[in-house]
Order: sequence, then C-alpha cells, then structure tokens
Amino acid sequence: MALIVQKYGGTSVGNPERIRNVARRVAEFQARGDQVIVVVSAMSGETNRLIALTKEVAKHPDPRELDVVVSTGEQVTIGLLCMALKDIGLKAKSYTGGQVRILTDSSHTKARILSIDEAPIRKDLEQGNVIVVAGFQGVDEQGNITTLGRGGSDTTAVAIAAALKADECQIYTDVDGVYTTDPRIVPEARKLDRITFEEMLELASLGSKVLQIRSVEFAGKYKVKLRVLSSFQDEGEGTLITLEEDQNMEQPVISGIAFNRDEAKITVLGAPDKPGIAYSILGPVAEANIDVDRSVQSVGHDGAADFSFTVARGDVDKALKALDAAKAQIGEHVIETDSSMAKVSVVGVGMRSHPGVAARMFRTLGEEGINIQMIATSEIRISVAIEEKYLELAVRVLHKTFGLEQQSGA
Ligand code: ASP
Ligand code: MG
Repeated sequence: MALIVQKYGGTSVGNPERIRNVARRVAEFQARGDQVIVVVSAMSGETNRLIALTKEVAKHPDPRELDVVVSTGEQVTIGLLCMALKDIGLKAKSYTGGQVRILTDSSHTKARILSIDEAPIRKDLEQGNVIVVAGFQGVDEQGNITTLGRGGSDTTAVAIAAALKADECQIYTDVDGVYTTDPRIVPEARKLDRITFEEMLELASLGSKVLQIRSVEFAGKYKVKLRVLSSFQDEGEGTLITLEEDQNMEQPVISGIAFNRDEAKITVLGAPDKPGIAYSILGPVAEANIDVDRSVQSVGHDGAADFSFTVARGDVDKALKALDAAKAQIGEHVIETDSSMAKVSVVGVGMRSHPGVAARMFRTLGEEGINIQMIATSEIRISVAIEEKYLELAVRVLHKTFGLEQQSGA
C-alpha cells in the first residue's frame, strides 16, 4: 500500500465533468489499495476573476483581505470534489488550509509554509477516507488566512507529501510531462522520462511554467519523489523529477532548452570607469525590486565604461526611473534601451562533465547568423540574450545540435 499525494490544477477541475473525471481517477488509485491525499487548485480562471474583482473595489486591495477573497476558489473545488467522490461511493473529507493547519508566516499573498499538522489527516486516512486539501492557502499564527503565491497549490502538495512522507507526489496538469522544449516551437520536442531537481529549477525559473519554482525547491530539499503527469490521459508515466544520484542511466549532456521572449536590454553608455560604478547602476535598480539578469561591462576608450543589463520588459520604465533618480551618483552617461530581446538557455547537469557545450552553442548560433548580445552561465546552464526575431530559429537549431529529439540513454 502506497501513500500518494495527487495535485490537480485549475484546468483539471475546470468544470463539473472534469471534477467527476478526477474523482474517477482517484477511485482507481484507492481501488488498488493506495491511500490518496488530493490537493486541488481553484477552477481555471477563478483566481484571476477573484483578483480582478478585488481591484474593482479598491485600487490597492488590502493584502489580508485579498487572501480572504482569493482563497475561496480552492474552497469551492475541495467541496465539489468530495461530493463527486462520495457520489461514486468513496469516503472523502475536505480540508481547508486552516483546517489541516498548514501554518505559514504572515506574508500575505506570498506566505511560506512553516509546519503542517499531519495528525488529523492521518487519522482520516486510516479510516479509509480520501483526503481533499485546498491548495494555495494556509493560516498564520493568529489564524489569518494566507496564500502562497500564484501557482502555490503545487507547493501545498509537495509540502503535504513531505510532511506525511508520501511515497510519491503526482502533479496532474494539462501537459503530460516536462518537455525538452516547447513543442509549439519545435514539433520534435520530446517528453523527458526523468529530469533532476536542479534542471527543473533552471527550466522553471527560465519560463517553463509547469511547476511553481518553490515547489521544486521544496521537493529537492525534502527529497519528495515528484512526478508531472497529464490529467487528461490515462496512459503514461509522465516525467519523474529526481535527485541526480538516483539517475541510474547515462545522462544526456543537455536536458532541455528554455526561453523567454519578454526581455529588454538597458545600456548605460560612457559612465566613468571607477570602482563602485556597477553598484551605483545596479544598486538602485535592485532596490526598486527589479530582477536583473545578465549584465556586462566593457571599458572603451577614454576610460569610460559601457554597462548593459537585461530586465523583464514590463520593468523597463521602473528601471529607467530608478536610474534617473541615481544619475548624480553614476556620473555623466547616456542611456539606451532595447525592448526586443529574448533569452535562450540550454540546461543540463551533464554539462559538468562535458566541457565544450558553450562553444558548441555559440558556434551553432553564429552559423545561423544570430548575434549573441549577452551571455550568462551557471554550472548547469548557459543563457544568451539575442534579438527576439531570431528566437524560434535559435531554439530549433539548438534543439537539433544537441540531439534532443533523440531518445536519451540510448
Ligand atoms: N489558484 C491559484 C492560482 O491560480 C493557485 C494554483 O492554481 O496553484 O494561482
Ligand atoms: Mg499551476
């Protein structure tokens, strides 16, 4: 008998028919003798609708009350799913985050889970119940309702799996696993049978939106066996997210290619090249809460420095304002912005033992006439900033160069 935590996202519970489907799937696991805890999101679109509603009554909705409103979406789905389960003869019991006692800190709209009281769930499980827990929500020490940030139901599921030492945490979604890249751009993209936590983290933070990043971090930390599967297909093993040391087959050098269209480059031209200049430029930008990705500094003639960095396109105005406020510290300079950038990254733990990935990537892009404007690397990732109009071409040629359409481990 296994203890399994299953999480169903918004589209999987998007209408009554789909909720009944989820109930049938859960019933199959129970019939096999497994104990099942289900975590559900709100019906698709519901959280967005609720957030929009709050903005219609207040320009800056109060965070505590915002959580009171947006957490209701999940309360609806836990009740509906339990009814559907009972309707086909199963014993089931719903829990809100506060009823489990998923204790969080008090940072409304982005709370962190501190502890989970597993005792009541355990008891209900032992009595043959399917447990249905509302994702995305918790409660703080004072009893205030909190939420975990968008996509937070993934984290609820992983945290419950960790707390109850579940055998597996299955994330059911509308895709059947994690792909080498977006199949809408590369039709030959292949579903990965396995990927490491580290790779998944890089892919998730680079815009592959299958899982909330925090849930992957959590799963890695507590060694939760995590699997991404489709809720619309009965067949298939999905993608297993594992620890590197548990990967028993030969690792491909590159596991996936991630990309992000939504980038802009800001260049500060001709600033004085003196110690502290990078800080006087990036400091104010960071203080404005803007994430800076790659940055490069080059020193030209006359001891002047050109300093470039990339930000999300939506942050350009904010970044320019921060730079303007700091112009006295930076010294004489001119600012240029380019809002048509994109970022492409190759990711793979195999890079550690296979040098030359970067050279191969740069050569491939060069042969296609694609100019690399900025480069950033980590131990298992190489990212380049290029013009957005070349993005799809870049992803396609890199997918081919690194042989990602072929079965791994072969
Ligand atoms: N319903 C929440 C959201 O839309 C949480 C989740 O779906 O994971 O962000
Ligand atoms: Mg989601």
